[in-house]
Amino acid sequence: MGDLLSRLWACFDSSEPLFSAREVASWPDGQAQWLQERGVLCATTSASRVGCSCCPSGHVEDVLEVPDADPPRFFIACPESVTVEVDSEALRQWTIDGDAVASLIAAALGLQGRPTPIESGRVWRLGTTRWQQTSREVLLARGLGAEDAARIAAHAGQAGRPIVLISGQEPPSHVWPGRPPACVALSRVMSQDATGLQADVVLLHDLVQKADELQAQVELVPLDPAGKKRVLRRQAQAAAASHQQDEVLVGAYQACHSYREAAKVLSARLKTKITKDKVKRAVDRAGGPSAVINGVNSNSVVRTVASHRRDKGGRF
Ligand SMILES: [Zn+2]
Repeated sequence: MGDLLSRLWACFDSSEPLFSAREVASWPDGQAQWLQERGVLCATTSASRVGCSCCPSGHVEDVLEVPDADPPRFFIACPESVTVEVDSEALRQWTIDGDAVASLIAAALGLQGRPTPIESGRVWRLGTTRWQQTSREVLLARGLGAEDAARIAAHAGQAGRPIVLISGQEPPSHVWPGRPPACVALSRVMSQDATGLQADVVLLHDLVQKADELQAQVELVPLDPAGKKRVLRRQAQAAAASHQQDEVLVGAYQACHSYREAAKVLSARLKTKITKDKVKRAVDRAGGPSAVINGVNSNSVVRTVASHRRDKGGRF
């Protein structure tokens, strides 16, 4: 179950993560059950389009319901077999409940207070942790790499005092409205064993201490306005470069529908070794294979009610 948390953190940072029944069934033993039992993985709208299970081409069709059938029955049109019945289990789709994730993290960290959403699905106040002689607020934020990141970051206030837990990449410092708070990646401090989610509170405090010290150093460096601009531009360029790299990796996967094939094509094109794991991590960061493929190509893959909704709303 080693990669369960990396899967969770990757999809937690994408907008409306969506998994098909087939995808969830392909996860290693026990992963889906572990997440379901904790309320993290939950059923959402069923797929409205699905690939034909009888034809090798796997043509994708609208799902139709048999009128007045009890229990409900579903079918799709098929040029070979006229109609093909679809098992309702195959239409199930799953998503991630952000509130459940917030509660799990808060409990693992042993925070004071109850986790509360500040902005539904995006930012939570998880509680407070003891910090030297006082306490410090811990926030959980999703999608700090999205277009509306500044709105989300504004919840951290001006003083840089909260600890912000993130599941994606650390945002550039200019996203924050004032002094940047200490950001800690969940993957650094969370682990999982048979009993549940475990948090390394000592490591969290250590990372926060280091982030505070770094921020204090940055503030000590006297910068003229031009120098400040240069620093901000460098940070923006670094963020853009990593985003573009992800886009290239995800684009190759969309074209090939295979991590291995995408890695091969990219390695040849970029004349540098790209591993299939690197492609997979970028796809996971973009919401997983279903979200990536559903988002781009409506002709060759299962397309869903939820993905229609996501297309309209964009990322976050
Ligand atoms: Zn067919």
